[in-house]
Amino acid sequence: MQSLRGKTVLITGASSGIGQATALEFARQGARLLLCARRLDRLTELTPQFTEAGAEDVLNIRLDVQDREAVAKTLADLPENWRTIDILVNNAGLSRGLAKLYEDDPQNWEEMIDTNVKGLLYVTRAIVPGMVERGSGQVINLGSTAGHQTYANGAVYCATKAAERVITEGLRIDTIGKGIRVTTVDPGMTETAFSEVRFHGDKDKAEKVYQNITPLQPEDIADAIVWAATRPAHVQIQTMVLTTIDQA
Ligand code: NDP
Repeated sequence: MQSLRGKTVLITGASSGIGQATALEFARQGARLLLCARRLDRLTELTPQFTEAGAEDVLNIRLDVQDREAVAKTLADLPENWRTIDILVNNAGLSRGLAKLYEDDPQNWEEMIDTNVKGLLYVTRAIVPGMVERGSGQVINLGSTAGHQTYANGAVYCATKAAERVITEGLRIDTIGKGIRVTTVDPGMTETAFSEVRFHGDKDKAEKVYQNITPLQPEDIADAIVWAATRPAHVQIQTMVLTTIDQA
């Protein structure tokens, strides 16, 4: 098992759900946390939790992954002692609406594609060259069971996660021989703010999603992510698919 003590981990979307739980789990391992989200206030609120858990250091950054120029500039201008990223967790993502493709609001498509696909690409493009130069690093992308199995009224979200799966595979192939590990962690239904965001803040609708099932918890996914990160350097965990035992 590799130690994560003092390793610098960049997590996008660390202000909630899986990203937040992942930050906490890396904190417990003594990592340095570079945490990104649009809600900087929320990251600031969470910081004591991470430092108390054992994080060696925490730097919070306001970042909208949809904004190509901001991603490039913010990540290029990181303070000197935060420029070496050992592990990148591309977690920021969302679903918007559940509707038939021919009836859906194209604005929902833009948000999903710009965040889940283009946002992941922008952050990857900014961070991976440093890993290639140093000959070491790990990229862990958040996919979904939706990237393996299309469901009704979710064509575009499923397409973004299928794209994530292919992009992750492509990055893995492109970095062979460079000392970089590339992993996709693909959860099924996980109880986070995801459903509330999907239904544009409608809490009643969001809660109904988890009726009659025992959903995964964000900690279950964080545990898998940190497990993948602590394998010996020559071990490539390509794909981890996690579902609740109640999910088809
Ligand atoms: P949450 O809604 O709880 O968290 C989403 C996180 O993404 C938030 O921290 C949010 O921060 C951040 N985010 C969203 N848009 C942007 C943006 N443009 N720029 C930067 N950060 C952004 O959902 P989850 O924790 O469930 O989702 C995390 C990942 O897991 C996503 O990629 C999702 O697709 C995936 N996933 C989730 C599943 C589930 O059932 N929950 C199942 C399978 C995959 P902020 O709003 O502060 O910017």
